Order: sequence, then structure tokens, then C-alpha cells
Amino acid sequence: MKKLQMVDLKSQYEKIKTEVNASIQEVLETNTYINGPLVHQFQADLEKYLGVKHVIPCANGTDALQIAMMGLDLKPGDEVITADFTFAATVEVIALLQLTPVLVDVDMDNMNISLEGIKKAITPKTKAIVPVHLFGRAANMDAIMEIANEHNLYVIEDNAQAIGADFINKDGVKKKVGTIGHVGATSFFPSKNLGCYGDGGAIFTNDDALAHTLRGIVNHGMYERYHHDVVGVNSRLDSLQAGVLKAKLPHLDNYNKARREAANKYNNALAENNTIITPKFDSLTEDHVFHQYVIRITNGKRDGLLTHLQNKQIPCAIYYPIPLHSQKAYADARYKEEDFPVTNQLCEEVIALPMHTELEDGQIKFITDSILEFV
Ligand SMILES: *Cc1c(COP(=O)(O)O)cnc(C)c1O
Repeated sequence: MKKLQMVDLKSQYEKIKTEVNASIQEVLETNTYINGPLVHQFQADLEKYLGVKHVIPCANGTDALQIAMMGLDLKPGDEVITADFTFAATVEVIALLQLTPVLVDVDMDNMNISLEGIKKAITPKTKAIVPVHLFGRAANMDAIMEIANEHNLYVIEDNAQAIGADFINKDGVKKKVGTIGHVGATSFFPSKNLGCYGDGGAIFTNDDALAHTLRGIVNHGMYERYHHDVVGVNSRLDSLQAGVLKAKLPHLDNYNKARREAANKYNNALAENNTIITPKFDSLTEDHVFHQYVIRITNGKRDGLLTHLQNKQIPCAIYYPIPLHSQKAYADARYKEEDFPVTNQLCEEVIALPMHTELEDGQIKFITDSILEFV
């Protein structure tokens, strides 16, 4: 059996080596490391793939979120609602921009932001909602857009974990997640579903004026060379990374399919056991692209299982061990423990198993057998 890894980028690379190497070679030959033709080609390819008018490439997913927020007319003290159960980058950029993060609980069934939680958290100061499509599963964008429209709020989708996932709206129309809110942000960190070989990110929007604003912000606030109209940042996707992404994008749907197939095999193998709760998903809607495969262990033995698997050289991880509202940097007197029952419980119960595009049946069987013998 091949060595188990959380993410196996080496085996994936072996299969696409020719395309990736040719792309990198092209950048080297043309000597266009910044803003080269491959950046523009990848941008156009991604716009087409996502069905969105504008993709603005940038340096990483955290920048993408920050720049998306900088492009909206938000002022210090404005409240931005987001999920308590996510990677810290989401709340970090809100705080960095001197906006006020308002954390709300998530739902147990899909681990995404609670709609009731959003409604309860809205005040006259609320200006935006940041849903995170956690672990690759689309949040309920119909309901979120409805709440946002009713209260005149922006929706900034944190799509770092769900690129390629579809959301089928109430009219039956299929849209890529990240393109439904006013603006979306994604990451091309190597382990993400569409990852480069370094750092990278992008912002998506259908709004022409916002896209123009964002293109200036990523480039020092310049709309005309050496004219700085707004305070911007320096956040670029470099040409080498764009080359890697251009070569990998045509494989994204197959990669997501491979992840769903692996998830299905895990689910089937673990289905019989009552203390293991596996992620439910519908293979027809494709609203889950399994950036992570996360199960819940309900008998209080999650940490024991973690040690058991590690002893058997099976990598696994806890995403996320501590709720954001309990983190020193984001604690706030307003938060009460009873407002976060689901996040608190998830942090005790979740465990992520190896998930990537190259998982083999024998590996999945070894992992699930090892879990079942312990639980
Ligand atoms: C990875 C990730 C980010 C940040 O992306 P980077 O490219 O690492 O900056 C933001 N939000 C979520 C939910 C993520 O998983």
C-alpha cells in the first residue's frame, strides 16, 4: 500500500507533469514573471469555468477576503457576521479592517453558518455576511441571499474550500459557489481543491464597478500608473503559479469527482456504526466537493481515535479544535457559551481523514478498518 498522506500532491503531479512542466517552461522562456500572459489566460479560463464576469487574481485566499471587503463601502465599526466554526482567516481580515466581527453558531447537519444565528445577530450596524462553504459544502445561499436582501447587506462568500461546487437555487438554476453573493474569495493554497505550488488566491464578482475597484486595490490603489486613488495593497498571483493553475483547472471537475467517490466509499464503510456520523451528501446536486472528509465521533472517544490512527501511521487532523469565539484574539464580552452549542460540540467530535484525488480503495479500507476496530 502506498504511504498514507492527508493530501498526496506528488502522485497527482506525476499524472499531469507534462502539462504543468510545459506551463512553467513557458513562463521561464517568456520571462514574464509578474502579470504575464499566463495570468490573463488563467483568469479568462476561470471566468469561463465559474460562469462569472470577473475574476481578480491575487496573492492568497486571506488577501482575497481582505481585498473583497476593502472594495465594499464598509467603515470601521460596521458589523460583519460570520461563522464561529471556520479557519481564522475569515474573521482575521474583518478585525484587521477594523470592522466588528460577529460570530454565530453553525448547523449540525452541514456545519455551515446557522440561518437562525444570522437572523438573531443582525443589528442596525450589520453591513455584511460572510458565509464559509466549509469543508467543500455549499452553504444555503438562497436563504442567505434572502436575509441579505431583506436587510440590505453584502454577502462575501469565503469559497476557499469549495471551488467547483455547484449550488442549485430555488428556481433550479445551477451556479458555482463563490459567484452567488456580491463577491467571492478563494484560495489556491496547494492543498485546496484547485491548488497551485505556492500561494495564490482570487476574487470573483459579477459587478463591473466592484471589479474595477478591486483591480485597483490589488495593485496599490492604482487605476492609472502612479496615480493612487485609493489605499491599496500589493497582492499578485505570480505567473508561475498562474501557469500551474491553468494546467490544473481542466482537471478540477474530475478531481472533485474523485473526492466525492472517496467520500462515498468512506461513508459506506462507516455507515453501520452508530457512534460515527458521516457527512450526508447527494451525488446528484454536487454541492459538496470534499475539501475535507470530516466525521463526528459521538461517544467521547475522538481524541483516543486520533491517537489510535496516528499509531498506525494514518494521518488525520482536527479541523477545528477551538471555536473562534474562544480564541484570545477574537473573544468578546458579548459572546455567551450558550450561543455556540453546535460549534462547541463539533470541536470535541470532529476528525478529518485523508482526502485527496489519489486515494486508493486499499488505503480507504485500511483507514476505515482501523477506525472500526477502535470505535
Ligand atoms: C485556506 C483558507 C483561507 C485562506 O487562504 P490562504 O490562501 O491560506 O490565505 C481562508 N478561509 C478558509 C475557510 C480557508 O480554508
